[in-house]
Amino acid sequence: MQRDIDCIFCKIISAQVPAHVVHEDQTTIAFLDSGPLAEGHLLVVPREHFTRLSDIPAELAAELGAKLPVLSRALKKVTSVEAFNVLCNEGESAGQMVRHVHFHLIPRRPNDSLGYRWNAGTYPAGKAAELAAAFQQAIASHGR
Ligand code: 5GP
Ligand code: ZN
Repeated sequence: MQRDIDCIFCKIISAQVPAHVVHEDQTTIAFLDSGPLAEGHLLVVPREHFTRLSDIPAELAAELGAKLPVLSRALKKVTSVEAFNVLCNEGESAGQMVRHVHFHLIPRRPNDSLGYRWNAGTYPAGKAAELAAAFQQAIASHGR
């Protein structure tokens, strides 16, 4: 299994650095974010070190994905929220600080102060069809 000795999440996974772990199994660990955006903010992390979501094998993605509803139900129960965001930041421009892929589960409450810019745009004529075709081609060549 790949590890990065300088990675803070690898250190948490190997118990060199403490964390408030809420779930552990063969592939996945989930723990409280130490800088929570809201009480109960969780991080869901594969045990194996991959930097980016776009690097992980499909089997691992399936394992991780299967944990999200389970952890979401626990999040709602423990924090008494009805709403939450699932967030994965990939790359510096997207705000990725820890270079070990992870999903945030962030509890949301009505009128909380969390948020992000959501400046919806529009496509010029023909652009959406062109993009969709490019996506279909990329996916048909196994996403490489
Ligand atoms: P990113 O910006 O990479 O998507 O998010 C990284 C998250 O990891 C941040 O929300 C940050 O608070 C959290 N984090 C960074 N270092 C530690 C740590 O040592 N322990 C825990 N529990 N969370 C951490
Ligand atoms: Zn790591």
